[in-house]
Amino acid sequence: MRMRHLAKFIVSWFLVIDAFTTASAQEINASDLLHHVATLSADSLAGRQTGTIGAAKARAYIIQQFKRIKLEPVFANFEQKFEFPIIQNSQNVIVTGCNLIGKISGKRKIGTILISAHYDHLGIMDGQIYNGADDNASGVAALLEIAHYFSQNQPGHDFVFCAFDAEEQNFAGSKYFVANRPFSIKSIDLNVNLDMISINPVKTLYIAGAFHYPFLETLLRDQVNSEKAIKVVWGHDKPELGKDDWTFLSDHAAFHRDHIPFLYFGVEDHQHNHKPSDIFENINQDFFLEASEFILSSLVVIDNKFVKNMH
Ligand SMILES: [Zn+2]
Repeated sequence: MRMRHLAKFIVSWFLVIDAFTTASAQEINASDLLHHVATLSADSLAGRQTGTIGAAKARAYIIQQFKRIKLEPVFANFEQKFEFPIIQNSQNVIVTGCNLIGKISGKRKIGTILISAHYDHLGIMDGQIYNGADDNASGVAALLEIAHYFSQNQPGHDFVFCAFDAEEQNFAGSKYFVANRPFSIKSIDLNVNLDMISINPVKTLYIAGAFHYPFLETLLRDQVNSEKAIKVVWGHDKPELGKDDWTFLSDHAAFHRDHIPFLYFGVEDHQHNHKPSDIFENINQDFFLEASEFILSSLVVIDNKFVKNMH
């Protein structure tokens, strides 16, 4: 009897250890994840173009979720407003954008990891709504569920969550944030950027950034090699790839220019990219959930193993 109890105890003790060191497949709530994408890519948000009512509706939803998750606001009501010029009908027009930023304080105060995903998209062109379900309601949805996980499982690092505006306007939101970040998040040790993570029929997710910061590949090697549900490929970050080098093609670029290491998670370009057909019905739900779970478990590994100035 005693031996059997002991064996049981050892087994359950290992399970407990395992639960603390890895994020299991049930950590992302699939229905919440899909609900976020369906809401943000609905026709009523009219493609979430910066400065429009649709973008304001997207913001209201994200703020409501930040409050539900109990993120600490970095700015009043999480909002960092900024202005930038665009050319409209050959006139210079000033547009107001708004980043949303919330934080979870880590228990070990060992540095800051910043997760980003842009919530804006292209709006309405020629009378057609560009819903942007994959680009980038998908990344925002994963960001929200990742924030939810870490609000229940306090990380060691400080985690900052940025829903950027105006990515589709020459990355105006992330550029403004990096140049005007508040004192409390002056020092950022790693940016993890999510942009387009839900459409890929052959279940392949790319990670870019390790060409510039090779220590990050070492950090995640076991995690990538042991992934079964999706195929994870390092790449799209070497200058010789030309237009297939994604180093400067999303919000992580502003961090990279400021010498902050980054990892970018995203899919290969696809037929719905920047098309009115980028709608909720066209995302690959299983792949999206598995990709989000992979990104979350990668972040758990990063939180456990990453230390400042590793590179
Ligand atoms: Zn995008």
